[in-house]
Amino acid sequence: MAGPDAADFSKGCAFVRGAYVPIAHASIPITDLGFLHSDATYDVVTVWDGAFFRLDTHLARFKRSCERWRLNPGVSDAHITEVLSGCVRRSGLRASYVEMLCTRGQTPWGSRDPRQAVNQFYAFAVPFVWIANEEQRARGLHLRISDVQRIPAASVDPTTKNYHWNDLTMGLLQALDGGADNVVLVDDRDHVVEGPGFNVFCVREGQLITPDHGMLEGITRQTVIEIAQSLGLTVQIRPVTAAEFRASDEAFISSSGGGVLPVTRVDGKDIADGSIGALTRQLSQTYWEWHTHSAMRVSIDYEPVKGT
Ligand SMILES: *Cc1c(COP(=O)(O)O)cnc(C)c1O
Repeated sequence: MAGPDAADFSKGCAFVRGAYVPIAHASIPITDLGFLHSDATYDVVTVWDGAFFRLDTHLARFKRSCERWRLNPGVSDAHITEVLSGCVRRSGLRASYVEMLCTRGQTPWGSRDPRQAVNQFYAFAVPFVWIANEEQRARGLHLRISDVQRIPAASVDPTTKNYHWNDLTMGLLQALDGGADNVVLVDDRDHVVEGPGFNVFCVREGQLITPDHGMLEGITRQTVIEIAQSLGLTVQIRPVTAAEFRASDEAFISSSGGGVLPVTRVDGKDIADGSIGALTRQLSQTYWEWHTHSAMRVSIDYEPVKGT
């Protein structure tokens, strides 16, 4: 693939209505309800060292999300895998953030009936996205616990990945304006729930604690729970108040965008002595070690593609 356009894929590659296009050229129609109404679902799987991590788990969650929102991407798991691999292969990226999406699509002109919309499947691969930059990973994140409440589960099911991010974005803006690195939202009873694209954990007396409701059940959260169990640690899955989170011995966030990311300050005050916790370090290290387990990896074939 040596044509003049070949280099364009290096910034990322998207799959749009049956064709692979350089990420900068990927677009959707302005009347797609995925855009106009945030009527869409998605999932993000990562590629690390040339292989997908836990692809089957992400495909299963994407399928559940589509069913929950009554969206039909019209593609099998095998086809999705082929498309995602196709995006990564064309980009040549060995570490990549890979997103699969299903939007409601467009209804016939004049119709307001979502059942008449033609659902659309899209995908793209871009360079790996870190929720915390290098400096933040080295010193630990400074979080703000927002007074913005996460959209209630009775309104929008948080266990289905969605683009109802206005609450997360307003909370994040408030946190950034106040000098913090990121934000955690609460529910109506002042329990911490989640932040923009990540779950939260704290450690108290050697036990791991993570919220049980009001948030997406992150696959990284699940991986952390499995790692903790493999290390013989106790994990409590239960409501966590903001006060309890502030008073913890260690804290971290979990996301496909970087795995286990340490938190060392909350609302301007240090967590314990303000240094990254020992358990947090151990979980982070094991998270990356698990990327070498063959059962967790699906390797990508980077052979050049003929044509495009
Ligand atoms: C994607 C996401 C997470 C983290 O999920 P992972 O599967 O671990 O990447 C947490 N909260 C929200 C709102 C998300 O969108």
